[in-house]
Amino acid sequence: MDSLASHTVASLQALLTSRGYKGSHAARLLRSYHGRGGEIDWEALRLPVGFREELLERVPAFTSMVVQRQVAEDGTTKLLLRLEDGRKVEAVMMTDHRLDRVAGCLSSQAGCAMGCDFCATAQGGLERNLTTGEIVEQFLRLRAEALALGRQLRTLVFMGMGEPMHNLDNVIPALHRIAPNELGSIGWRQVTVSTVGIVPGIDRLASEGLRVNLAVSLHAPDDATRIRILPTSRRYGVGEILEAADRYMAMSGLPAIVQYCMLRDVNDSPDQARLLARLLQGRRMHVNLISYNPTGPGLSGFAYQACPVERMEAFMEVLRSERVVAHFRRPRGRDIAAACGQLRAEDAAS
Ligand code: SF4
Repeated sequence: MDSLASHTVASLQALLTSRGYKGSHAARLLRSYHGRGGEIDWEALRLPVGFREELLERVPAFTSMVVQRQVAEDGTTKLLLRLEDGRKVEAVMMTDHRLDRVAGCLSSQAGCAMGCDFCATAQGGLERNLTTGEIVEQFLRLRAEALALGRQLRTLVFMGMGEPMHNLDNVIPALHRIAPNELGSIGWRQVTVSTVGIVPGIDRLASEGLRVNLAVSLHAPDDATRIRILPTSRRYGVGEILEAADRYMAMSGLPAIVQYCMLRDVNDSPDQARLLARLLQGRRMHVNLISYNPTGPGLSGFAYQACPVERMEAFMEVLRSERVVAHFRRPRGRDIAAACGQLRAEDAAS
């Protein structure tokens, strides 16, 4: 069953007129639903008698349920959502030093097929793609969390469970519901879609002309190290991925983000920093250095370790000395396993 989250104004209009109601109710209803994080202000809408019951019987407000909510010491909130078929996914809200806003992180798949060796999601493999409605429902749940804190959900990243480029058939329609202002949403430039480097996916996203930010999880500047960490990435080499990012940047006019998870004695040497800097010369790309968040041994059995702070700083120094824009990304919600690479959609008690 599809929920209201799967609808555009046009598709809901068509449904309403087919049931004998005015199509003009659709935009008002969806604006209320999106603006209030899935809570519809029925009173204010003043709809015909029986409308609400008839609509919700056919199109519920949500098909997923929040089955667990965990709040970390730093305020990061992780929601475990049970989908209609019993599968589970997680969505994360991150608070900011600015007290009026939060950021959200959405999942695009239940599980993931990419097998990244340092990522907890990889361990269960891919279960299935999420539907458009299931993606938008996560956004609405996070928006409701933000509103309950008196804040606005201002930025959104597709960096949760799954590889978004493997589910563009649903991610793109979800972006069309989440990003445009039509439903009081958050704006294209406030959204970032991340990929481990699926070249056709990057090109398809570019061909859609959506001006969202692109983040590429590179994690190594050379193919040999990259294949060790991301075994399924054999298909697309580092050079090919960066060229696809170049094409995307030419379309969007926005700099791309390179994500680099620092793994001790794997990808953290000064030589690797120099190679990364060389690759990025002349490119409008920013590097986010991410510290490894412990997830236990990877699928290969190798137990990764976090890179010591001094080594991360030395890596950063090399990048900056080569005029590469680079930042450390602060880990969020580690104590509730909500940080990068830690999502596995398991009940905390199980
Ligand atoms: S890091 Fe992302 S793409 Fe890689 S296995 Fe984890 S969820 Fe999938």
